[in-house]
Amino acid sequence: MIIAGLQKLTLIDYPGKISATVFLAGCNFRCPWCYSRELVLPEEIKKQPKILEKELFKFLEDRKGLLEGVVLCGGEPTINKDLPNFSERIKNLGYSVKLDTNGSNPKMLKKLIDSDLIDYVAMDVKLPKERYSELYSKVEDIEKSIKVLKENKIGFEFRTTVIPSVHTKEDFLKIAKWIEGPKIKYYLQNFRAEKTIDPKFEKIKPYPDKYLLDIQKSISPFFEVCKIR
Ligand code: SF4
Repeated sequence: MIIAGLQKLTLIDYPGKISATVFLAGCNFRCPWCYSRELVLPEEIKKQPKILEKELFKFLEDRKGLLEGVVLCGGEPTINKDLPNFSERIKNLGYSVKLDTNGSNPKMLKKLIDSDLIDYVAMDVKLPKERYSELYSKVEDIEKSIKVLKENKIGFEFRTTVIPSVHTKEDFLKIAKWIEGPKIKYYLQNFRAEKTIDPKFEKIKPYPDKYLLDIQKSISPFFEVCKIR
């Protein structure tokens, strides 16, 4: 497990909790619009300063009682086989743990939930089901992760970054029909054109707010909560 970053305080990454965010390097996806290439591309990861596990745990020990949660994000945290043990050590310090995931490892997700090693999940749903092969060959994994979360054993949300030149309004209707449910929270996030994996996305302007509002309006009936971030 490579710890490539630590945000020592965040009030927005974990709903309702004052948290720290731990960035774990490595990802099994190569979303061309990804703006975390320093956490994804092996040649970029090499250049990143690393944080030792013992330094991280010392920090978390020291912040006990001040912070409430720890967000595990990436890259893709579930590519790390020792994630359950890592998360357990954080939980043993009294923190709640939120996992950010691309949903490609339903087995690990289920294990983490069933073993009470995470408390909240934010899962990216990047494309409609019929287009997922553009990013990842095993859409059935994504589908299984959606199902695991819909068992409602812990709090969760789905989210999509809305990317001009990739998504259309129709795509969001398809995604909504795929993941819909009475208790589902779904967030639309506007794209930021920053140091993307494929440099051509750095020139792309985000959709205007009105475009996202139109999408939100049309898909809100499929969810308990549908918001723009
Ligand atoms: S956007 Fe997420 S899933 Fe896609 S390459 Fe970047 S870190 Fe990986």
